[in-house]
Amino acid sequence: MKKLYCLFLFLLLCKTSFCWGFFGHQKINYYSVFLLPPEMMVFYKPHIQFLSEHAVDPDKRRYAVAEEGSRHYIDIDFYGAYPYNSLPRKWEDAVLKFSEDSVRTNGIVPWWIQTMQKRLVAAFKEKNATKILKLSAEIGHYIADAHVPLHACSNHNGQLTNQKGIHGFWESRIPELLADKEWNFFIGRAEYIQNPGDFIWKRILESAAAADTVLKYEKELTSAFPPDQKFAFENRNGLIVRQYSSSFSRAYNNKLNAMIERRMRQSIFAVASFWYTAWVDAGQPDLTKLTNKKFSEEELKEFEELNRQWRTNQIKGRPED
Ligand SMILES: [Zn+2]
Repeated sequence: MKKLYCLFLFLLLCKTSFCWGFFGHQKINYYSVFLLPPEMMVFYKPHIQFLSEHAVDPDKRRYAVAEEGSRHYIDIDFYGAYPYNSLPRKWEDAVLKFSEDSVRTNGIVPWWIQTMQKRLVAAFKEKNATKILKLSAEIGHYIADAHVPLHACSNHNGQLTNQKGIHGFWESRIPELLADKEWNFFIGRAEYIQNPGDFIWKRILESAAAADTVLKYEKELTSAFPPDQKFAFENRNGLIVRQYSSSFSRAYNNKLNAMIERRMRQSIFAVASFWYTAWVDAGQPDLTKLTNKKFSEEELKEFEELNRQWRTNQIKGRPED
């Protein structure tokens, strides 16, 4: 029994350690609410709990649906060198040039965000409260993923350079260690995005450009660091686990010159701005007069089913490493 319990905890821990971690995604959606204008805040603030909790639904869906995986990343280095001009930014043109299969295999996050944005505009036009909430929570996830350098790089977990684990190190371990205690999330206000496609491609290119640094600095630090001090048994969410030590994590964060905090802040700004832009594009509907305010039995069952599959299934599609 005890063994089973340990196994369960272990699995749970593994499953919470990718994609900004659950911690990061939840924080990003949470803080995004505070950048909204009062006309949106009246609706988003009372639902801040939902928006945070469901920020991680897209990751959970990777355990239920095979095509979910490719919505979270783009291996842009597949398309040559920075700024990857051989890759058309328009979906139809990219598919025509490289085939849909190939484009999907290499990841579709910049296009998927634009699809989600159109759905969110439609939900605002319909004045459909539950749809607005679900889509807002989920687009927040994909936008945040697009800000992570290793989500725009085929060596996404350092698997090609003997740095396995770096993915969760950058986006889970360090934010969990430092975000609440030391990082600042006062960010100002959401802004209207004239061209969501351009905006998100810019973020992708920034991520892609930073991926080298993320990998290189970890390598450099590893060779400069006492080997027995890189990892340590330390507390993580109340469990003692072997992980990158606090001192190695801090040293890496310093070497990156606050890159992770900066990317997290930019994610928050982007998520709030995408929400705001969708609302404006829908004609600024009065959010105190929405319909369909309660999740149906069917929708509640869907949430439950998502959790069940996430707990019991293996990840479908591309694994993390
Ligand atoms: Zn993700």
